[in-house]
Amino acid sequence: MAAASRVPPGKPSERWTGNAVAAMISAIRPRRPSQRCQLRRSPQEGDPKISQTRRLSRHTGMDNTKQHRILILGAGYAGVMSANRLAGKLGSRVDITLVNPIPEFVERIRLHEVAARIESDSATRHTVTELLHPAVRLRLGTATRIRPGDHEVDCAEPGGQKTWTQSYDELIYAIGSGSPLAAVPGALEHAHDVSGLDRAHALRTALDALPSGKTVLIVGGGTTAIETVTELGVARPGLSLKIVTSSVLGPTLSPKARRYLMNAPAMRNVDTIEQTKVAEVTPAGIVTTDGRSIPADCVIWAASFAVPEVAKDSGLDVDRAGRLTVDSLMRSTQHPDVLGAGDGVVIAGPEGSTLRMACGTAVPQGAHAAATIIAGLRGETPKPFALAYLALNMSLGPNDGLVQPTRANDSPRDISFTGRFAGWVNELNNRYARLILGWERQRAGSYHWAKPRRNASTPTQRQEHARS
Ligand SMILES: Cc1cc2nc3c(=O)[nH]c(=O)nc-3n(C[C@H](O)[C@H](O)[C@H](O)COP(=O)(O)OP(=O)(O)OC[C@H]3O[C@@H](n4cnc5c(N)ncnc54)[C@H](O)[C@@H]3O)c2cc1C
Repeated sequence: MAAASRVPPGKPSERWTGNAVAAMISAIRPRRPSQRCQLRRSPQEGDPKISQTRRLSRHTGMDNTKQHRILILGAGYAGVMSANRLAGKLGSRVDITLVNPIPEFVERIRLHEVAARIESDSATRHTVTELLHPAVRLRLGTATRIRPGDHEVDCAEPGGQKTWTQSYDELIYAIGSGSPLAAVPGALEHAHDVSGLDRAHALRTALDALPSGKTVLIVGGGTTAIETVTELGVARPGLSLKIVTSSVLGPTLSPKARRYLMNAPAMRNVDTIEQTKVAEVTPAGIVTTDGRSIPADCVIWAASFAVPEVAKDSGLDVDRAGRLTVDSLMRSTQHPDVLGAGDGVVIAGPEGSTLRMACGTAVPQGAHAAATIIAGLRGETPKPFALAYLALNMSLGPNDGLVQPTRANDSPRDISFTGRFAGWVNELNNRYARLILGWERQRAGSYHWAKPRRNASTPTQRQEHARS
């Protein structure tokens, strides 16, 4: 998650957007009685707000005498944020259904910890309904196909035996990302990853079966790979660790931060192999694009995530990676009543080029997709999405970390924070990423994030996601 390092202009509550500590203080501030009532209040005839909405509905063509049906796919960071903002802001004017395969919200940002240490398992899972606004209906299942022409989504219940069709007036596609193994020759058969809870469990089982001295090779040089290798460096000191990356370790870090990383305590026994591209995973390890074999007893792919192919299979506009293409209002470029947020979508054009797959992106996008729908129902003009990154945080094992302050476009500043303090900041941010979802349930609109200053420089094009 991004942490505040600079204070852009704006109202005080907006200025501190993205700052975990400031946002916590703002969210626990007692609410005014009127705000408290707003949470459960049903709209009444004669309510000036409703009359205004009806007037505006004539203008927008929406029938506000009927409940507006909003369907959200995915109860991750983006999906839960959208659901809570919509339910809290629109009350009984909307009927919200959220479809998710399991009844738990998974803190994906801790899955490297789950793979390394059994005790972190319970901290990673939370009952979805405890995080969700009570007006949101949770339905367990998986979306298999979107039929935008019919305003319907085909869904399958867990286990896949029963299917059903869910209708919607507006849809939010927030199904995140997952395992990248299918894209790499041999990886599906011979590699592990930490992209999902079941994948992290499978990796932990494999690590438990490895005797001391065996070699674990992590592929990737971004944050997920670094967090995984350092977590294992501390939790599994008997293993021999290697990390292989196609460029350098921590390519988006400043030189000073990279120096710290290379010499961090958890990296001391890690063999780092840079500028080496992996072509294939084999039962014996990996083969590089220049034909070298590097032996390993366990390979962990942490170089990228892949996205589910629901949007692509449904014929919606997607990019080469299969992410739903949305405009700056978070609406599908093809079907404006399909919106998207999080890892599974990409904002077309330069605005989207510097956004990384991160919950620091998914949460603001979830809130913004909700804001677009709210504006549409109120007959207001929705605003384009804008996000200023503030920092890249990572853990380097349980008691160490690295905070890399960034410019709005995510490029690194020359300063960095390291050690126990940075580890603590990273932990605070991880907690904040989940806590804000609950705060939004209590008080819709309480979450804000940093926006670029109006005269900020144009974002530079990036070829790779920062997390790959
Ligand atoms: C090990 C690891 C460490 C990370 N560390 C960080 C970090 O430190 N900071 C950071 O900002 N980011 C981090 N990330 C990235 C971050 O976790 C993701 O960017 C974030 O989870 C994206 O949020 P999301 O809401 O888009 O998707 P997700 O959190 O992936 O949620 C998507 C939801 O949709 C559900 N779903 C999937 N398919 C379907 C379907 N067909 N129908 C219905 N529901 C479906 C999923 O089950 C899930 O509940 C890390 C990721 C990993 C794996």
